[in-house]
Amino acid sequence: MVERLRQAIRDVPDFPKEGIIFKDITPILGDGELFRGSIDLLCEMAAGQKVDKIVGIDARGFIFGAAVADRLGVGFVPVRKRGKLPWKCREESYALEYGEAVVEVHEDAVSPGERVFLVDDLLATGGTAAASIKLLEALGADIVSIAFLVELEFLSGREKLLPHDVKSILTY
Ligand code: AMP
Repeated sequence: MVERLRQAIRDVPDFPKEGIIFKDITPILGDGELFRGSIDLLCEMAAGQKVDKIVGIDARGFIFGAAVADRLGVGFVPVRKRGKLPWKCREESYALEYGEAVVEVHEDAVSPGERVFLVDDLLATGGTAAASIKLLEALGADIVSIAFLVELEFLSGREKLLPHDVKSILTY
């Protein structure tokens, strides 16, 4: 299954800007077997870890994270880009190549001591995941693991997430 997933991911050069090779996971979403296979693998990563909540990171992390939460029968929490969540939020900014971005989570989305498992489609520099972890830890969450479909190892994003447990299905 891992090799089938690798073959399905489409490299799109120069998207969203020159020099970036965008890893397009929509061919996985569009294939029932591959989508289920990717969720199976993410669920295996969360198995036996007494997870209380799945956190998905805006926006493709919602697709994978929500499916995992449903399988495990636990709640789902969205970490969103600024300005999308309607209730009281905690926010965290992080550096982008140019400028900065902000992620937010609802203050009551996670209770102190809850064991959360984060999901996103892709780990690049790790800025987004690191900011998401900070947000959740500020709410008192216990971070079990951070799981990705794809890890771009050459960007060393994993180092930004230490000492947390980082898991990925495919590495490049
Ligand atoms: P980063 O904060 O640098 O780890 O970026 C991670 C976020 O940006 C993830 O939510 C990804 O969906 C997206 N992203 C970054 N680089 C790529 C890429 N080469 N292909 C697809 N998505 C990317």
